[in-house]
Amino acid sequence: MAIQRPKGTQDLLPGVVEKWQDLEQQIRKICREYGYEEIRTPMFEATELFQRGVGETTDIVNKEMYSFLDKGDRSVTLRPEGTASVCRAYVENKLYGGPQPVKLYYMGPMFRYERPQAGRFRQFHQFGVEVLGADKPIVDAEVITLVWDLYNRLGLKGLEVHVNSVGCPTCRAEHRTKLQEFLAPRREQLCKDCQDRFERNPMRILDCKNPTCQEITQGAPTTLDTLCLECSEHFQELQELLTAAGVRYKVDPRLVRGLDYYRKTAFEVLVEDIGAQSAICGGGRYDGLVQEVGGPQTPGIGFAMGMERVLNAIYASGQVTERAPKEFVMFIALGEAAQKKAFSLVSQLRSKGISASIDLLGRSLKSQLKTADKAQAHYAAILGEDELTRQVVILRDLALGEQLEVPITDVLDDLMRKWEEEV
Ligand code: ATP
Ligand code: MG
Repeated sequence: MAIQRPKGTQDLLPGVVEKWQDLEQQIRKICREYGYEEIRTPMFEATELFQRGVGETTDIVNKEMYSFLDKGDRSVTLRPEGTASVCRAYVENKLYGGPQPVKLYYMGPMFRYERPQAGRFRQFHQFGVEVLGADKPIVDAEVITLVWDLYNRLGLKGLEVHVNSVGCPTCRAEHRTKLQEFLAPRREQLCKDCQDRFERNPMRILDCKNPTCQEITQGAPTTLDTLCLECSEHFQELQELLTAAGVRYKVDPRLVRGLDYYRKTAFEVLVEDIGAQSAICGGGRYDGLVQEVGGPQTPGIGFAMGMERVLNAIYASGQVTERAPKEFVMFIALGEAAQKKAFSLVSQLRSKGISASIDLLGRSLKSQLKTADKAQAHYAAILGEDELTRQVVILRDLALGEQLEVPITDVLDDLMRKWEEEV
């Protein structure tokens, strides 16, 4: 039996890959404009990094990691997300010793052992940014604005930006008590996961997807009810900056990030009409994370977006990108001697950066012309035995259906001139 790809993975074939490349290009462009530099970290890390950096109580660490022992008996894990690795790299390479803040972005595959469904894969791709070493609300605003700007450039419709503040350890302690008091009478009715969360991490009950839990948490105290002065000023300032930047947002007090090192800002971007998985970006401030992975106390904020879901949303918005024709000129050579001459001409054009190609299958004139048409080549350059004897090439403009004979010695200059005019 033929071998199939692992469940939850995809082959991205030509035709689709171009859409990825376009998205990647837009991402690189906007990052350059906003002053974010790319970082590339390993695809696998010590398992402990994610246990500490993502957190033992999360679904990711509890259920979704691809962990295994390597041949040296070390436990390693295929990265399920990018933030922990970026923080590790920041510490390991002493980036905290250089100019701050450090503004980084990454793009690449992530791995989570999940139940595959539309918009949910086991190997998927994230683009994310992290700003390390700056704690002001304007940093949060810049990061959210970057997402907003990117999505608008991509032409996405039906965007919803949700923001919240989960406070700091001080105000969160108060929230925890109030929330537990509120939930205590109906504790037994919570789902099994939330019964566990009641002691370990009650805040996360607020974003449980279970309908009963959602019903029980109606009217529950939110983190916004107990924000300390500093956190509340930070949140206020963020909102004013978002408004100043023209970002349309909504305060969503149920949006939480359950880990200890998450502070203040949490945000998420949703998009209508892409089906069940509408979250296309999630992020927040994590002022305790760098320390958690062994570095100095350093504030940080970032987001990660699911590129498959963004591409889906682009598709749903009806955005189509026009791509330039693949080939500028296709050489159609007939006979061995003509083929050698044509191959030499193609090679010279290619070395000048002009897209040129030549038949690789030894096909007939007719079928080569058909291929050139299909590829939407601008020109076909025909070189048969007769043309070779007369030292000419027939240059046919495939769009116009016109053709003319060019001396073989002039054909390179001629094509180069036409190329210049085209681009
Ligand atoms: P979800 O609630 O959908 O599981 P999450 O909270 O696990 O999302 P994050 O860890 O915040 O997601 O990751 C950021 C983004 O990465 C998500 O908003 C989503 O767009 C994307 N993403 C997460 N998991 C997957 C997956 N298995 N397949 C495709 N995209 C994913
Ligand atoms: Mg998830």
